[in-house]
Amino acid sequence: MVGVVVSHSETTDVPEGKLRAVEEVLDAQPLLSAADLELLRWAAEYYHHPVGQVFATALPLALREGRDRQPLQRFWEPTAAGQETLAGDTLRRAPRQKALLVHVAAHAGCDDAALDAAFDSWRSHARALVARGLLQSRQQPFESAAIPSLAASDAQAGTLPVLTPAQQRAVEQLTPAELQGAFLLDGVTGSGKTEVYMRVVSEVLSRGRAALILCPEIGLTPQLLERFERRFDTPVAALHSGLTDTERARAWRAAATGQARIVIGTRSAVFTPIPQLGLIVVDEEHDSSYKQQEGGFRYSARDLALLRGQRSGVPVVLGSATPSLESLHNVHLGRLAHIELPERAGSAVPPRVALIDMRAHPVHKGIATPLRHAIQRHLEAGAQVLLYLNRRGYAPTLLCQSCSWIAPCSSCDARLTVHQGRDRLACHHCGAEAPRPTRCPRCGYELHPLGHGTERVEETLAELFPDFAVERFDRDNLRQARQLEQAIERVHSGAARILVGTQMLTKGHHFPDVTLVGVLNADQSLFSTDFRAAERLAQTIVQVAGRAGRAERPGEVLIQTQYPEHPLLSTLLDGGYAGFTASALMERDAAHWPPFVRLAIVRASDLNPEGALEFLRAAKALLPSPTGVHLRGPVPAAMSKRADRYHAQLLVESAQRTRLQRFLAEWVPAVEAMAAPRSLRWALDVDPLEVL
Ligand code: ADP
Ligand code: ZN
Repeated sequence: MVGVVVSHSETTDVPEGKLRAVEEVLDAQPLLSAADLELLRWAAEYYHHPVGQVFATALPLALREGRDRQPLQRFWEPTAAGQETLAGDTLRRAPRQKALLVHVAAHAGCDDAALDAAFDSWRSHARALVARGLLQSRQQPFESAAIPSLAASDAQAGTLPVLTPAQQRAVEQLTPAELQGAFLLDGVTGSGKTEVYMRVVSEVLSRGRAALILCPEIGLTPQLLERFERRFDTPVAALHSGLTDTERARAWRAAATGQARIVIGTRSAVFTPIPQLGLIVVDEEHDSSYKQQEGGFRYSARDLALLRGQRSGVPVVLGSATPSLESLHNVHLGRLAHIELPERAGSAVPPRVALIDMRAHPVHKGIATPLRHAIQRHLEAGAQVLLYLNRRGYAPTLLCQSCSWIAPCSSCDARLTVHQGRDRLACHHCGAEAPRPTRCPRCGYELHPLGHGTERVEETLAELFPDFAVERFDRDNLRQARQLEQAIERVHSGAARILVGTQMLTKGHHFPDVTLVGVLNADQSLFSTDFRAAERLAQTIVQVAGRAGRAERPGEVLIQTQYPEHPLLSTLLDGGYAGFTASALMERDAAHWPPFVRLAIVRASDLNPEGALEFLRAAKALLPSPTGVHLRGPVPAAMSKRADRYHAQLLVESAQRTRLQRFLAEWVPAVEAMAAPRSLRWALDVDPLEVL
């Protein structure tokens, strides 16, 4: 077993027979500083999660398992008795031992290499001296390389773009020496936020300090990493899920020893120890992947970044074109300073956005006539076209047109998606797959795929625009980072002219030749029960729209909908993202949802349909809820049956964070102590993103 020592004591109540000796100390020097430890302890307390699992999240697996240790060397020193011996003549009869001891003492200790250089053979004499209690050895790390000074780090200083006035103001606001506090860099897509980060990082490096840049998913945004590597003439440590365990441990160590002064990483990189940290950037701060939503330790890397910065006096910059309502609320409260980049950098102008009423136009296989004409126009003008659809697969349903049978998942309250390429049906909730039946199992009539996924849209586009190559971006088509890179390359080279894809396409890509963006179906999210669905939809639309017209040629965005008068779409079109957030914040306030209240949610599931609800009812009854704290539910989850388990949830809500925290501190241990069937699972999520 490998453990992490966080403190030690001289005495214990544990009976002696139960104590075990430490077999080996893996790290000669602590891996984490006192401040790093404090952050982890705070996180364990705030998220009410066992501190050991919090450490497990923070430390790379290879280090936790004692693989890939810091290289150590044996270091020899005389003992106190050995020092005394040097004066007398105890070792008169052992001149070689004496010579060794004298040498070691004269050099204030030596490592193996130094002794190898000084003596032909010394190991047996060293052993004899150790047996006499005159010499001792310990393991110590190799001298860590000196931290490089990076005064002139801007590799391309001569060729940098001239900052726009807004960028200039942002850089000035973010570069004073001894700057502290938290900032929201609220810049429309293409406004040059990354350029601002790089200028500020350059300043930070020139002061001999290091920068931590968090991003949602490096696999999806390789361009960010690339841009930093190209710009700075210094090692960059990248920490993300595409690394092997050893690579991750190496990168982590490069950051922790100060050899890499720029650390770019995804969620868990927020815990990386970084000496002389001088800046934390959270790019695309609104992105939901900053919140760990599965597994044990459900934390928000964005929130922990703010906390880390505050505790260590390091400025934190949250950047986004579509800031979260939380961050905008924090601006109103004065907790974040608002820095705006209202215009695109360079010659790019904002795209023109319009809705297409799908009820008013003929629709061919999911594409309405006006969109089809627009695609034709943009392609003929030599540009690229991007179509966004939040649905993988060929069709979301397989339907019998005679008896209306729909292929269901046997483990979930869900329909199976048709995957044409693999000729299978798949459940997007539990991952189950089934062969695709050709005839209806109920009446024997023919089955037809109903609706459109990316795979089907790709087929339709190939049929409508046979002269233009289509590139499909989704998890089924691009499973590996390498495939994604190649697809991006085909877009940049111009080989691909039409891009169709899911969420994957909305993230941070810079495709200068895309001038038309089509949102094929925005409607699924308009009527979701999750209070955050509107915010996420608005962010997605604005982000995907931001892919249009990022260079010289102006962009156009067309959104297909059955509900053109829906208030979300109209505020977004009339008032832009700021107009949307203003009204969305008022709604949240009126409905008592975050950021105006604090939430925690307990999700439970069981094989028995009633098990989770019963457990949560009993949990709710454990303690009377104190003033200002409300327990709501339990209720079955929106999709109650998933992967053969029945899910339910209980909400804990308070207007004040401290009240909620005080209640959880008392209540969670009581819930943990409850008797529950073995099949029951539950987890607490503080500040949940999804309340479905
Ligand atoms: P964001 O991160 O806000 O989406 P980027 O930093 O990616 O924006 O910038 C968008 C594009 O504009 C990039 O190609 C970038 O090189 C370019 N750019 C950024 N700042 C300037 C500037 N001041 N002048 C000209 N081009 C710029
Ligand atoms: Zn399923």
